[in-house]
Amino acid sequence: MEFKVRACRFNPETDEKPYYKEYTAEDYPGMTVLNALIKIKSELDGTLSFRRSCRSAICGSCAMKINGITKLACKTQVSHEIDKFGIINVEPLANMPVIRDLVVDQESFFDKIKEIKPYLLGQREDEAHNRFHALKEGEKISQPVYYKSEFQNLTGNEDTPNCILCECCYSECGGVVGNKNYLGPAALAKLYRYSEDPRDNDKNGSRLVGGSKPDGIWDCVHCQSCEEFCPKGISPVKAIVKLHEKSVKNSITFSAGSKHVVSIARSIGETGRLDEVKVAFESGGITGLINDLPMAFGAGLKGKIPPLRHKLIKDMEDIRLAYKELDLEDKL
Ligand code: SF4
Repeated sequence: MEFKVRACRFNPETDEKPYYKEYTAEDYPGMTVLNALIKIKSELDGTLSFRRSCRSAICGSCAMKINGITKLACKTQVSHEIDKFGIINVEPLANMPVIRDLVVDQESFFDKIKEIKPYLLGQREDEAHNRFHALKEGEKISQPVYYKSEFQNLTGNEDTPNCILCECCYSECGGVVGNKNYLGPAALAKLYRYSEDPRDNDKNGSRLVGGSKPDGIWDCVHCQSCEEFCPKGISPVKAIVKLHEKSVKNSITFSAGSKHVVSIARSIGETGRLDEVKVAFESGGITGLINDLPMAFGAGLKGKIPPLRHKLIKDMEDIRLAYKELDLEDKL
């Protein structure tokens, strides 16, 4: 059966703006969008540019927008897309500049990955760990006996070690749309992955401190897109929430985001109500309050200003239980 592919074309050196070019291809059972693009490139138009490598959803190279949704082209069946949309629209990933057609410049993405130090730091030295092996210099071994207990945080719902760096989450991230410097879901999921690795020995918590600076873990907007669009079933947003918990528990609370969380917990714990003015002051100080004024003014114009002092919570029992669960009893 014949079907249409509408590809976004753009050469920044010669084109003023992107345009679309339509191709007709022949479907066969099991054909993927990547198969279709390879066929078009080899038989109809050799100038169409896109990345690809493994064709097995392992390398992450062929991530692109397919009918408006970021996906791996090698994992996407032509028949499914045609049944749903009647055509296959292919566009480059968002949040990165286009080099040509469907190929984006990945530099900013990989710079952010490098920023979180994606490798094991230091050498773990505890006796129990080294009992089974005489470690050679530079070796970091994890024993099977450790696997279940020590790696469980890495293999839970977040599944962060399975990341293939495909950039699907980065392309759909609302945080990066609003702030180009935001580290983004993949880098922060990797930060979590290394901070939970039992072989790592980041004694000073330098990764977590680095990730807690502006543009880091506290700049996530919790849109959940990273979880929704990850082709490997990873949940960067859950990993980021765990990094929030970890940084508060380790008293890494120098950033406005962490101060905000601690202040909310303290305000409710101490007085049984949320005091918005106090929270705003404790989160950003006088400068923060002044910086927030335009936003508050805009919210006021739209009738969206929250009450400055919320209602008193009469029954604090549930709150006490939640604080206990979260290890926040010192805030009560
Ligand atoms: Fe791709 Fe998922 Fe890794 Fe993001 S977390 S880069 S979507 S594999």
